[in-house]
Amino acid sequence: MTTTHEREQPHHTPAPWQDGARLLDALAAAPEDRIIFDLPGIEEGYEALLRELPGVAVRFAMKACPVDEVLTLLARRGCGVDAAGPAEVEQALRAGVPIERMHYGNTVKSDRNIADAFRLGIRDFATDSLEDVRAVAVHAPGSRVFCRLATTGEGALWGLSNKYGCSPEDAVAILETARDLGLTPAGLSVHVGSQQMTADAWQGAFDRIADVLTALAARGIRLDHVNLGGGLPARGYHDKHGRPLDPPMDKIFTVIREGMARLGAIPGHRLGFVVEPGRHLVADHGAIRAHVSRLSARGRPDGERRHWLYLSCGKFNGLYEMDQLQYRLVFPTHPGAPSVSAVVAGPTCDSDDAYSHEDGLVQVPADLASGDPVWVLSCGAYATSYMTQGFNGFGPLPYVCVDDRGEGA
Ligand SMILES: *Cc1c(COP(=O)(O)O)cnc(C)c1O
Repeated sequence: MTTTHEREQPHHTPAPWQDGARLLDALAAAPEDRIIFDLPGIEEGYEALLRELPGVAVRFAMKACPVDEVLTLLARRGCGVDAAGPAEVEQALRAGVPIERMHYGNTVKSDRNIADAFRLGIRDFATDSLEDVRAVAVHAPGSRVFCRLATTGEGALWGLSNKYGCSPEDAVAILETARDLGLTPAGLSVHVGSQQMTADAWQGAFDRIADVLTALAARGIRLDHVNLGGGLPARGYHDKHGRPLDPPMDKIFTVIREGMARLGAIPGHRLGFVVEPGRHLVADHGAIRAHVSRLSARGRPDGERRHWLYLSCGKFNGLYEMDQLQYRLVFPTHPGAPSVSAVVAGPTCDSDDAYSHEDGLVQVPADLASGDPVWVLSCGAYATSYMTQGFNGFGPLPYVCVDDRGEGA
C-alpha cells in the first residue's frame, strides 16, 4: 500500500525527528492495532542531542518509554537512566544499563525505596527536603545527593512546579545538612516543565542555579554537577486547537549551551552537566496503528450537529496526553477524500477520553468506515507507561520495535 502520508508530504531527507520511512512502512504493514517504536530513529535522535549539547551526560527519563529494547539501545550508545524507584532501576539493569550511569531522580521516596535502591547499587539520589535527605543518610549512607530547585513551570504544557523542588534557601540548608550527615553534596537539579516551549524557562533556571552555586561556594560546598532535568520538547505535536506546536529548538539549545558556560565559570565548583530527556528522545519515534470504531453525527442540546470520530485507542491505551495536545492523524486508506470536522475521541465511557476543545475539531475523511486504519503520529512518549490494564476492557496495546532490518519483536 502506498500511503497518503507519503503522497501528501514533499519528498526530502527527513530531519532526525521526522516520521521516518521505517515507521510509516511498519504502520502500513500492521494488520492489527499496536504501538510501534522506531529504534534507529531514537538512536539518531540521541546522537543529534549529543551534537547539540557536547560533553553533557544524557540520562533517559525512562518513564517516558519503559520499553526494554529502547533502554538496551540507548545503553549501548552510552546513555544512562533517570530512575524514579527501585522497580525502574531493576528494569534498567536487566536491559543492560550500568548502575554507574543511573541515579534516583525522584525526590519522593519511602525509607524502603531508598534502602532497596541502595542495595541495587544506586549511589546518587535527588532530594528536596531535610526529611528526605536525613532518610537518605540513614538508608543509603555515604551516598551522593543533588538538590532539586523549584521552577515556575511557565511555558510548559505540563508545569510540574508544585510537587517538586525547593527554594534556593532550602537548597543551601539541605546540602549543608547532607554534608554534616556524611553524604556528598554533589549537585543541583531543575526541571523546567514537560514539553517546555520557551528558551526563557531555561534562562530563568540558570539564573536560579547560579545564585545557589554562589551561596554554596561561600559556605565551602563544592559541587561536581548540575542536572538540567527534562522538558526538552517533542517536535511533532499539535496543540489542543490543532495547530503545530513547533518549539524553538535552536534557541533552546543556544540558551542551554550559554547557560552551561556561564555556570561553569562560577568559582568554587568543578561542574559537569547532566540532562534527563524523556519525551524529546522518544515522542516522535513512536506511532500507533489504530482503527476507526465509528464516525457518527449527533445533535447537541443546543441544536447544533457535530461529528464524532471514535478511535479504537484513546486516553487509557496510548493517547493519555490528549487533553493537552493533539496527536497528528493519518488516514491511509482515504487519500484526498472530502472531509468533515469532527471531535476525536477514544473508545471508553469516560468523557475525558477525547480531544478536549470545542475549537479543536479535526478534519477527517467523511466516508470513514468502522475498521478503517488510522495512524497516530508522535505518540512514542508517555504512551506505554500510561496504559491502563483495560479501562472498560480496552486493554493495553501490544508494542513492536522496528530496527534497520524491518520489524522486530
Ligand atoms: C519525567 C521526568 C523527566 C522527563 O521529563 P520530559 O519532560 O519527558 O523530558 C526528567 N526528569 C525527571 C526528574 C522527571 O520526573
